[in-house]
Amino acid sequence: MWRGQKQGYVRRWVAQDLGKPIGPKVRYSSICENPLCVAPHHLKQLSLKAFLTMAAKRKSPAVRVKERAKQSARRQAKALLKPEDVAYIRENPDGMTNKALGKKFGCSATLVWDVQHYRSYKDHNVAVNPFTHMITWAGR
Ligand SMILES: [Zn+2]
Repeated sequence: MWRGQKQGYVRRWVAQDLGKPIGPKVRYSSICENPLCVAPHHLKQLSLKAFLTMAAKRKSPAVRVKERAKQSARRQAKALLKPEDVAYIRENPDGMTNKALGKKFGCSATLVWDVQHYRSYKDHNVAVNPFTHMITWAGR
């Protein structure tokens, strides 16, 4: 059983769980294009025909990895928060509230929450330096 097929089965179970159709002409993909993703809110229902068309056009994993890296570099370039900000928010060394963190970095408390829960800035997997905030403070 190849991996894509296995994810397909898992998505089918997830779909069934959500009360979505799982007939023989229904297939599921993910909206985030991560072939391993089986998140319920990323489920995309496709007809068998659309699914097969998509599978035929599918790019090789190496090409997709390269494209994703380019995309995330582009996203980071125009990102509101700098990597050190993201690290600070996740670490929250001063035990600040989300509202206070948002104020500090000029973003919403909602974004702060998203960052903390890796729903935003997922690409920022920078190793957290425990002295980041000290460096930041020293530089200001
Ligand atoms: Zn996903």
